[in-house]
Amino acid sequence: MPRPILATIHPEALRHNLGRIRTAAPDARVWAIVKANAYGHGIERVFDALRGADGFALLDLQEAERVRALGWRGPILLLEGVFEPPDLELCSRLGLWHAVHCNEQIDWLAAHKTQVPHRVFLKMNSGMNRLGFAPERFRTAWTRLDALPQVEEISLMTHFSDADGPRGIAHQVRAFVETTRDLPGERSLSNSAASLRHAADPQVRGDWIRPGIAVYGSAPDFPEHDIGHWDLQPTMTLSSRVLAVQQLQPGDTVGYGSSFTADAPLRIGVVACGYADGYPRHCTTGTPVLVEGVRTRLVGRVSMDMLAVDLTPVPQAGFGSAVTLWGRAADGTVLPIDEVAAAGGTLSYELMCALAQRVPVVVEG
Ligand SMILES: *Cc1c(COP(=O)(O)O)cnc(C)c1O
Repeated sequence: MPRPILATIHPEALRHNLGRIRTAAPDARVWAIVKANAYGHGIERVFDALRGADGFALLDLQEAERVRALGWRGPILLLEGVFEPPDLELCSRLGLWHAVHCNEQIDWLAAHKTQVPHRVFLKMNSGMNRLGFAPERFRTAWTRLDALPQVEEISLMTHFSDADGPRGIAHQVRAFVETTRDLPGERSLSNSAASLRHAADPQVRGDWIRPGIAVYGSAPDFPEHDIGHWDLQPTMTLSSRVLAVQQLQPGDTVGYGSSFTADAPLRIGVVACGYADGYPRHCTTGTPVLVEGVRTRLVGRVSMDMLAVDLTPVPQAGFGSAVTLWGRAADGTVLPIDEVAAAGGTLSYELMCALAQRVPVVVEG
């Protein structure tokens, strides 16, 4: 009998979310971002549900090979471009489009021998200060690329640092638009937050949007908005069961460090889920959990293989009761991953990506 912990991927929710994002940015094409193994969901597990996208974007060359191996003949974009010259051979062979963010990548392209010229996305650093050419260097890079026989078409891209927050994107949009005004080529600017919040503006929408986290059923601007507001559905459920029940008396404590003390008689359930499964150890007493679909709270510290929950709101629960750590319970009740992440001082992205290897994963349906 395996441990009862399980992750379930919901293809219908992936389809729904993709459709929802399309509505937010009508007439833009959509890169489904599947980096980090599709945000921990598994590229092979999400592929079918996301094949309605116009392309797949990622950054690992092996992941690009996996998408081609699934039979995808459409566009694939390497968001960080190539890491060393031999990678360009794989791009030629598999027809991968790639970002160009630095002069070294242009040098490599200039020395690359290829029958088929490449489609590249020239990246501007419009303020994020991670990858890309600063606006004052962007046109020189464009001109260099444009002169290369190895390059077939140049698209223009940038990435926002604050699409989800109060600073916003206006300063970056301005830098991008002013610098690229008379340059030809398709544009790509928006991640999930920009696609949902700002894509009414055609300059922000561009030709290609690049949603990731919203596809995976998380609100990119939580807690300002939740998935209900954006009409998104959870695509990953982490579930387990109660494997022991303890009856506490006032003064009794729970778990390592005795961080929780009962101030009244309290029934707790011990759940087969710990930080070695990817559940964040930073979540402490009060983090929401569903037991039999009923909302309750974590108590005490999360240990490697177990955590404890308050059974007070679910008197019928006991040994073997179903527990939802995030996602959707059997009765349809949703516990957004955003709430759990916030309780642990992190983001849904990290929780999805950190789902541990030892957790079995099934695809619903
Ligand atoms: C990861 C990534 C995205 C997707 O971001 P989300 O916030 O998950 O929507 C878009 N563009 C680039 C360049 C990225 O690296």
